Amino acid sequence: MGKTVFYYEDTVFCPYCKDDVFDGDSQDGDIKTVTCARCGGEFEYEIEVQYSYHIFGLKPGKKPKLNNPVKKKIVLENYEGKHIEEVDAEEVVIPGFEEIKLFLYINNWTWVVSEESTGMCVCSGNSRGDVKEKAERVLKHFGKEEAIKIIAQQPKISESAQVV
Ligand SMILES: [Zn+2]
Repeated sequence: MGKTVFYYEDTVFCPYCKDDVFDGDSQDGDIKTVTCARCGGEFEYEIEVQYSYHIFGLKPGKKPKLNNPVKKKIVLENYEGKHIEEVDAEEVVIPGFEEIKLFLYINNWTWVVSEESTGMCVCSGNSRGDVKEKAERVLKHFGKEEAIKIIAQQPKISESAQVV
């Protein structure tokens, strides 16, 4: 065995004489053994396929929009601690869970469901329908009594930090 040489490149060449090797049709993970046509050196190479994408916008998507927005408060937590923010929101009722006051708001392109008394996030998702479904799943998972109990155990938004 000769000296071990190792290259990680985007073209194939003989590691001994650096002659270029034509790499025909190949698939990710293929391993090929080559005898160099120029120097007679032998080597092996493994193909790693990498993709890149050119992206062209064809039609702008729709920014999510709330129906009849009202102001609600949410609690945000970061390294500085908790703070309250006022957001545009839409009231949402999950059938069977009418006692639990939930609202939707939009954070950038994401839909979020929060609970009113605590200002805490219940779930987030890609559309109004998506978050409503997730919120319903969360509530059904706990059941009404348990969900109400859990919410009651959390600090009330009125006891949280100042509005910024
Ligand atoms: Zn060679």
